Amino acid sequence: MTPNHQTNSTLLDRALGAFLGLAVGDALGATVEFMTAREIAVQYRTHKEIIGGGWLHLKPGRVTDDTEMSLALGSALIASGGWNPRAIADAFVKWMQSNPVDIGNACRRGISRYIADGSLSAPFAEENGGNGAAMRNLPTVFASLANEDVLIQRSIEQAHITHDHPLSDAATAALACMTRWLLLEGAQAPCDKMANDLIAQHPAFAFKPWPGKTSGYIVHTVQTVFDGFFNTGSFEECLVRVVNRGGDADTTGALAGQLAGALYGVQGIPARWLKKLDPAVTAAIYKQTPQLLKLS
Ligand code: MN
Ligand code: MN
Repeated sequence: MTPNHQTNSTLLDRALGAFLGLAVGDALGATVEFMTAREIAVQYRTHKEIIGGGWLHLKPGRVTDDTEMSLALGSALIASGGWNPRAIADAFVKWMQSNPVDIGNACRRGISRYIADGSLSAPFAEENGGNGAAMRNLPTVFASLANEDVLIQRSIEQAHITHDHPLSDAATAALACMTRWLLLEGAQAPCDKMANDLIAQHPAFAFKPWPGKTSGYIVHTVQTVFDGFFNTGSFEECLVRVVNRGGDADTTGALAGQLAGALYGVQGIPARWLKKLDPAVTAAIYKQTPQLLKLS
């Protein structure tokens, strides 16, 4: 197997790249969340700086629920010393009660259900096909590198706290397995096969040619993320392509940043973006990442 991209970075460097990449993608994309590509082009020509603003009126470098829920999940795993779905749900409750800047509908519904009845699994609902479970799953990957089957099972378990939907499950698992591979091997080529396997199982995810939709529906999110990740050769090129399509741009940015960051490592993320990121978020990522990797 000849990888089409091979890095010499270490596992820790790639893991930091993935988590910082997720946060950078969130902060970059949030500026243009819910805009159309045409509106973005009129206002920015090309959006490629972390400047805050957007519909949430963010300070430059501020992240949103995508990064915050990932950090909440990570903190629960570290505090528990391993896998503990109830601790994850409790961390989501604590986060929701902290009055976050944004929260998705399915996440709010699922966390509220857990508060009400203590159940760790959402009932199936068609509207649970959003990207909220996939967007926060990175710490599960860090803590489950040793075994792909365990990673898939855990990914779906944490997903089900708020999202029970076959396409959300399939995408959350596939993105987790791709990220695991990138972290362990630093090579992109096998990810093509993983994407093809996902599409063979669920043809809705087909992304060539890019179908042109950017909503928070997991299918549109994955199509936009894959189109960016597989058709670009650097972290910056990937993120700029993805977020300039608008729609759920903080979440497509976060997931593209996770994959591209895992592939290209911290060194691959533009320094001007890392410098703009909220320092408290950067510090939390540097603290959590090695601790999570130790759980694997
Ligand atoms: Mn968000
Ligand atoms: Mn979003």
